[in-house]
Amino acid sequence: VKISKKFGHELTEAVRSFSNKLIEILSGIRLIKTVSTEQEEYQKIIKLVIKREDIQLKTLKAKQLIAPINEIGGITIVLIIVIVGRFLFLEQLQSLAAVLLTYLVVLFRLIPLLSQLNSNRSQLANLSASVEVVSNLLNRDNKIFVVDGTEPFTHLKEAIRFEQVNFAYPEQEDLVLKGINLTIPKGKTVALVGSSGAGKSTIADLLPRFYDPSDGKITIDGKDLKDFEIASLHKYMGVVSQETYLFNNTLRYNIAYGVENATEEDIIDATKRANAYNFIMNLPNKFDTEIGDRGVMLSGGQRQRIAIARALLRNPDILILDEATSALDTVSEKLVQQAIE
Ligand code: ADP
Repeated sequence: VKISKKFGHELTEAVRSFSNKLIEILSGIRLIKTVSTEQEEYQKIIKLVIKREDIQLKTLKAKQLIAPINEIGGITIVLIIVIVGRFLFLEQLQSLAAVLLTYLVVLFRLIPLLSQLNSNRSQLANLSASVEVVSNLLNRDNKIFVVDGTEPFTHLKEAIRFEQVNFAYPEQEDLVLKGINLTIPKGKTVALVGSSGAGKSTIADLLPRFYDPSDGKITIDGKDLKDFEIASLHKYMGVVSQETYLFNNTLRYNIAYGVENATEEDIIDATKRANAYNFIMNLPNKFDTEIGDRGVMLSGGQRQRIAIARALLRNPDILILDEATSALDTVSEKLVQQAIE
């Protein structure tokens, strides 16, 4: 029982960290995709899966050890009944023995088997539904995959061009973008203005290749966006979207996320440029402050400035800001505007 309890604790802990990581990855998937940390996150979760598997196996072994003990208990009871029966009903035993034994066999063998059969049947029905869902998820034929290019992206030299770009979301009939032609020269800031639902975010999402155009093409310095290695493209791209995602970790972890070997100076510089340095210095643990689940300890404006610092730390050639201030009050908006400028 003691061992069972210990494994129970370990298992709960393993399941908890696995679920937490899973939720974190799923809710931060946009961020993970834009900074191309898929592999790292994958390695992290695989470790948790293996650990969970390990403990689950141990728990199962402990459980299987207990089952034979129960069995022995059952047999002992039968023996006692037989012995007691022998003393009490010595005369009738001859005639009763057959009935008694049949009764005992039915009681101890057949009934549990039957009930097990029944529960297995319903388990099978339950599982087959899950199997269907999982196999549907794993099936690669019914999904669109963005094909990775081969050419490493080094730097933006001249311009980004949209040429006759049409786009419809997967499994949607209507075109969201129709015949978009747009040139963004290096060093220029371009603002897209339009009513809600006009397709501004969609245009922004095509650049990191969350989706590919249905028709037409996007080029960088004359080369098709599809030819570039996605990870190398993302290395030179900073994205701040309307809803920033922050990990339940320290400020430093969040700002440096996805940037290998960022120095302390780089981080300080990026936070200064993002107008976030002052508020961070006022926090008790400064860069080591834990910001809670999705950054609940920070205000909306502070979260947004952390996201900008994160984007600036990459020193991107292409910076995409998708309504970075739309969810903020006017004071926070001013601070974020200044940071953007
Ligand atoms: P904006 O950024 O200008 O407000 P969006 O680019 O977000 O507009 O949306 C453009 C259109 O595309 C809207 O009609 C919206 O409903 C649709 N849309 C946006 N995202 C998706 C999606 N993931 N799947 C299907 N339709 C979408």
